[in-house]
Amino acid sequence: MAGPFSLQGQRALVTGANTGIGQAIAVALAGQGASVTCAGRRPCHDTISMIRAAGGEADDLQIDFADPLAARDIFAGADYSLLVNNAGIIRREDAVSHSEADWDAVVDVNLKAVFFTCQAFGRELIGAGRQGAILNIASLLSFQGGIRVPGYTASKHGIAGITKLLANEWAPHGITVNAIAPGYIATNNTEALREDPERSRQILERIPAGRWGRPEDIGGTAAFLCSPAARYITGAVLNVDGGWLAR
Ligand code: NAP
Repeated sequence: MAGPFSLQGQRALVTGANTGIGQAIAVALAGQGASVTCAGRRPCHDTISMIRAAGGEADDLQIDFADPLAARDIFAGADYSLLVNNAGIIRREDAVSHSEADWDAVVDVNLKAVFFTCQAFGRELIGAGRQGAILNIASLLSFQGGIRVPGYTASKHGIAGITKLLANEWAPHGITVNAIAPGYIATNNTEALREDPERSRQILERIPAGRWGRPEDIGGTAAFLCSPAARYITGAVLNVDGGWLAR
């Protein structure tokens, strides 16, 4: 029987679903019954195999957000009700030498592409009178400054802002717009930090939970925020961080 956490009958698109947090989110949504399109600039074979092996439904979509408007046509006439904007990149460099090319690359993928993907999704749902949910992947650097990642920090502060703006505009249409701010999660994105013994030790010492997060920690929260149980939650930026921000 479908309960308040069920995603049965829903169709989801998850960006950057071939690895890390996006993969865990795709698997978690499919686990609750959603049919999941795994979108990435590389094929999402592993994620699709994991979902199908568990009896779920998944398909593949190749998309590269180096063009921030790459998703402009993918929702027209399709029956998506859930959108998870997870794809993201990071470039580490001192602020004094952070290049314009790095700034543009990061802000294009992490912020501009997210807004225009939301716009394409929202246009379709609002035009068709359908309800749905958007989940954007923010960061602790939506709240904090960070260090040596100026483009990334700007992009993730921007994600918190557009999440709230879209929530305000689209609540009357029955579309919720939320974000998850992951703490320090063990993925490719944080490999450089984990390989630096000093930084890794400093980070672990500050996490009340005493461990790096796992992609599945974000997957479960994502499934909840996309579910009917969360239909009155909108405009939230929820930190899933082992207590980091509480400290
Ligand atoms: P990841 O393992 O590096 O995954 C990033 C995903 O984004 C990959 O699927 C990647 O595809 C995709 N992607 C990058 N550029 C793209 C483009 N131009 N077009 C389409 N897809 C693109 O890192 P992750 O940690 O799972 O990151 C996922 C999200 O969580 C990001 O938004 C990141 O900022 C956010 N986040 C992560 C952490 C953390 O601690 N890990 C903390 C806070 C926020 P490829 O595999 O082809 O590169």
